[in-house]
Amino acid sequence: MEKIIALIDCDSFFVSCEQAENPDLKHKPVCVLSNNDACIVSRSKEAKQMGIPMGIPLFMAKQDFPDVIYISGRHEIYRNYSERVMKVIEKFCPQIQIYSIDEAFADITGLDKYFQTDYSGVAKLLQKEVKDKTDIPVSIGVSSSKTLAKYASDKSKNTDGIMVILDNYDDILKDIEISDIWGIGRNLSKKMTDLSMYTAKDITEKTDKWLSEKFGKNGVMLKYELLGKSMYPLEEEKPPQSIQDTSSLRKPTNDKNKLKSELNFHIHTACQRLRRFGGYCSSVEVMLKTKDFKYYVLKDKLDYPTNFELDISKVIYNLFEKIYTQDTVYRSTGIVLDDISYTTETQLSLFENNTQESSKIAKALDKINNKYGQNSIHAGFYKK
Ligand SMILES: [Mg+2]
Repeated sequence: MEKIIALIDCDSFFVSCEQAENPDLKHKPVCVLSNNDACIVSRSKEAKQMGIPMGIPLFMAKQDFPDVIYISGRHEIYRNYSERVMKVIEKFCPQIQIYSIDEAFADITGLDKYFQTDYSGVAKLLQKEVKDKTDIPVSIGVSSSKTLAKYASDKSKNTDGIMVILDNYDDILKDIEISDIWGIGRNLSKKMTDLSMYTAKDITEKTDKWLSEKFGKNGVMLKYELLGKSMYPLEEEKPPQSIQDTSSLRKPTNDKNKLKSELNFHIHTACQRLRRFGGYCSSVEVMLKTKDFKYYVLKDKLDYPTNFELDISKVIYNLFEKIYTQDTVYRSTGIVLDDISYTTETQLSLFENNTQESSKIAKALDKINNKYGQNSIHAGFYKK
C-alpha cells in the first residue's frame, strides 16, 4: 500500500525557541548567533523580511541592521525543545524518523480516516498540536515520497505552512526547479542544467537507462521519488549504545557549584533520552576541558543498571571530585552514559530493590516535564 509521508520542519527553529522562552521577542526582528557570536544562524520572519542574509558575520549585520535583536545561541535549550517537539509528533504518528534537530519525517498513512478529514486536515491538526504543546511553529509537507514531502514543506513556508502533493504530481513537477530538490547540491544541479534539465519534470521524462548512465542508481531512485513512489522508506531511530551530553560554558570558570550544576543538567538531559528509549546504563563518564584545552576523562561502573538521575549523579560527582582542582579554570563539561542495555524493569529489580522506587520517581519527573515544560522539575544536588 502507498505510504503517506509528512515532513515536519520547525520554522526559524532557534529563534522560535527563544521566542517561546521569552514571548516579548515574538513578532520582532530577532537573530540567533552561532558559537562565539560569530555569525547569524537563525532569523525570525521579520528579520528575513528586512533582508538580513543567513550566515553573515555579526559585525556586518549590526552595521546594516542596528535595530535587530541579536541573541547568543543556547543549544541546551534548543535540544530540549527539539525533544519535546519530537515527542508530540511521535504521539500523533504511527512511525517517525527524526531527521535533524528541527525536522522529522512521519508516516501518517490512514490518519485521514482516523480523524475523518483529508491529509491537509491531518497536517493542520498536527501543526496545531505541536504549537499548543510546545509553542514552536512548524511547516508540514505531505506526499507519498520523502523527496516530495521535503519539497512541499519548503514551499509551504510561503503560505500557511501546509502543502500536500498527492494526485496532482503532473501539475507540480514542471514547477519544481532542479536546485530546489532535496539532495541536489550545486554540482549536481549544474550537471543537470548542462544536460538541459531544468525542472523535476525533465528528470521524470528521462528513461531509467539514460538516468542510470548519467547519474547512477541514485538518478533512477530520484525519478521515482519525484513520481511519488517511495524509494527511501522511513528509518527507525536506532536505540543508542551510548548517550553523550556536553556543552561549553558561557564563561570559563573554576566555580565548583557552577560546574556541578552543568553536570547535573547533562545528567538530566541524558537520562531523559535514555528513558525515552527504555534503556539502562551500567557505566558513566565525566569529561572536563580546561581553559587551555586540556582534556580530562574519567569512567566508572555503576552498582546496577539504571536510568535515574540520582543513581547516576552520585557516581558522576565522585569522578568530578577526582578531576577537579580549584586553581584550574574549565571551559566545557560533559558526560557519557555507557554500556546501555535494553531489558525489562522486573529483571532489573532483581539486582537492587530500590530500582523500582527510582523508576517511579523518574516516570513522575518525565510526566511533569512533559506537561509543564522542559526542566520545570529536575533532580538537584547538595552544595558543598
Ligand atoms: Mg527548520
